[in-house]
Amino acid sequence: MQTAVAAARTILTSLHDVMASRSNAQTKLNTVVEVIGESLNSEVCSIYLLREGMLELFATRGLAQEAVHVTRMAIGEGLVGTIAGNVDTLNLAEATAHPDFSYRPETGEEKFHSFAGVPIVRRERAVGVLCVQHVDPRRYEEVEIEALQTVAMVLSELIANADLVDEDGAWGLSPSHTGVERLSGLTLVKGLASGVAVFHQPRIPIEHTMADDTEAERQRVYLAFDKMREQIERMAAQAEFGVGGEQEEVLETYKMFAYDEGWSRRINEAIDSGLTAEAAIERVQQRTRMRMRQIDDPLLADRMHDLEDLSNRLLRTVSGQLGTAATTGLRQDAILIARNLGPAELLEYDKRRLKGVILEEGSLTAHVVIVARAMGVPVLGRVRGLRGLVREGDLLLLDGDEGAATVRPTPALVEAFEARFARSREKQLVYAALRDVEPRTLDGTRINVLMNAGLRDDVPMLNLTGADGIGLYRTEFQFLVSATLPARERQTRLYREVLDAAGSRPVVFRTVDIGGDKALPYLRHDDGDGEENPAMGWRALRVGLARGGLMKAQARALLEAAAGRTLNVMFPMVSEPWEFDAAKAVFEHQLEYLRKRKRMLPEAIRYGAMLEVPALAEVLDILAPKLSFLSIGTNDLTQFLFAADRANPKLAERYDWLSPSILRFLRRVVKSVEGYNVDVTVCGEMGGRRLEALALMGLGIRRLSITPVAVGPLKELIRKVHLGELSAAVEGWLISPPPDMRAALAEWASGRGIDLD
Ligand code: PEP
Ligand code: MG
Repeated sequence: MQTAVAAARTILTSLHDVMASRSNAQTKLNTVVEVIGESLNSEVCSIYLLREGMLELFATRGLAQEAVHVTRMAIGEGLVGTIAGNVDTLNLAEATAHPDFSYRPETGEEKFHSFAGVPIVRRERAVGVLCVQHVDPRRYEEVEIEALQTVAMVLSELIANADLVDEDGAWGLSPSHTGVERLSGLTLVKGLASGVAVFHQPRIPIEHTMADDTEAERQRVYLAFDKMREQIERMAAQAEFGVGGEQEEVLETYKMFAYDEGWSRRINEAIDSGLTAEAAIERVQQRTRMRMRQIDDPLLADRMHDLEDLSNRLLRTVSGQLGTAATTGLRQDAILIARNLGPAELLEYDKRRLKGVILEEGSLTAHVVIVARAMGVPVLGRVRGLRGLVREGDLLLLDGDEGAATVRPTPALVEAFEARFARSREKQLVYAALRDVEPRTLDGTRINVLMNAGLRDDVPMLNLTGADGIGLYRTEFQFLVSATLPARERQTRLYREVLDAAGSRPVVFRTVDIGGDKALPYLRHDDGDGEENPAMGWRALRVGLARGGLMKAQARALLEAAAGRTLNVMFPMVSEPWEFDAAKAVFEHQLEYLRKRKRMLPEAIRYGAMLEVPALAEVLDILAPKLSFLSIGTNDLTQFLFAADRANPKLAERYDWLSPSILRFLRRVVKSVEGYNVDVTVCGEMGGRRLEALALMGLGIRRLSITPVAVGPLKELIRKVHLGELSAAVEGWLISPPPDMRAALAEWASGRGIDLD
């Protein structure tokens, strides 16, 4: 018995000439069925292709020729329709015994007992079926099936080139890929969106399947494997990918597959059978997919996604198409699909067309989510098996309010969604109407509602929302979106534009907070690479102080941009007072430099620190006299208080911001700076959520800096609150915490007609 490789090779060698010949597509198909039938010693070999939604017999050896272009089957009808419908192989000793068998008298097939068929797949969809039949009732050998599957791949190329099928009507991977599907996950950014699914890492369509030079194809795969392994090693070393938890598991699995001899051997064998490198990778992947589909094990399914990822990566490497979907650009309103994303990767997309994001992973305070929130893009995270359920180009309705999404919705669902969309826009109009309204509580306390920003495009939101100013300008975003370190002049220009746009409203610039999940590819630092725990490592002010040049340039840029006005600057991740002193000294030094050169200076400089590291809370009496303001970064603070990585999706829902530990901690911070002339702001994501904002106000916070879209809803909330009552309630809960603080607060609020949605 010859091997599968040899069987496929024999057929492909003969097919090579057929494909290269100048005859028309029908003649080619007629020859193809002869070649395959002959090689597999099969009395019948037929090709069915999808035309006008039906599978039509296009060529046959062994069945009645009169049936060609006459016999037609619907998807799901008969054995051929079942193969296309399931995009899966059938191998039967007795065809008539199969429940889906449907007899077609015009074909004269009654004398044939055994039957085997494989789908012809194009862009992951069945566009036809290739089948063989025997008089003898016997199942086909595995090698024969494998040979058929390889040939089906080549046929898909022939068919596409000859324009023989309508791909639009093609059938998807499995029945579950065709109907409506509801995905559920964790809402990371609220909101509604609709658009077509775009994979961040697109699948590469295979254009050429038959190799001209097998040796050259083999070399291409070797090189691609080397490159891919290098990439994975680099990823493992990069802070951005992080370590620990799920990400580490993924990386380990990547490594395991990348070095798996079996995988590379199977790809090599497929090349031996005559396929190109791309087709060989896809062929092996198809086979794995088919095998895995028979195993119902969620753990294995997860690993399968890893292998899909890697196979896709290998395909992109081998074909030199390494870019993400952002490189090719979005052509219509899109919902981005990815396992996970870095903030810089998200920023590469065209904001006008990017309507939503769905992730398999993700957590509330990961920077990519903060960026999406700032962009007003709803995000659904933690969707299991996402990439197996959605296909590129599927219509998606993303319901970030319900934590769900609908794939391939029916027209009725689209209509209902549109109606909700319209209602939500109306609500937005209500918030927009609050633009010029002062956020004052029922008992008259003015709360400062500031917004967080980081991109040039965020700044117009100041006017749209009527925020009191920018309470946190994340200057590192400019660094994240640049291919190289932004020159000082570019920084100055941006800061000046921001200040101009803000006019009389304050802008608090935070010096660069890089490292952690905000790695800059162009700023590699040997001592920080491959850190075990980047969030607690070489980041923020620590990098700033060590890289004097970086901080000096930024200090000068800020001082110059703020000439003649007030500069508010704050330092991230201050852990001990001396770090604040050192950072301030960099600014003062630059100020002196400008003064000596008689340059125009800022009218005033207000220095502030971020409280993100719990240790700083113990020494506020030392730091506070030096500060103009203190900004509590609850995203980092809570990850350190709970020792829970903010980017780890497994911990995304584990600890509540409304836990007594966090609230008591914050209360203590507020108390510690009382009596000093220090403004206290909360600028973490927590402040943008209704219940959390209530708790913060209740414990004494009067300044909240939040994501722009939350400004309107927060103003509305503030105007419904009696602060005296709220403070008394929160005070009581802090002394003796209720079993569920969230529930207690929600009940308090709803009892007062405060909408929590
Ligand atoms: C924080 O940590 O809460 C914060 C506002 O800073 P960032 O989210 O940028 O780390
Ligand atoms: Mg932070």
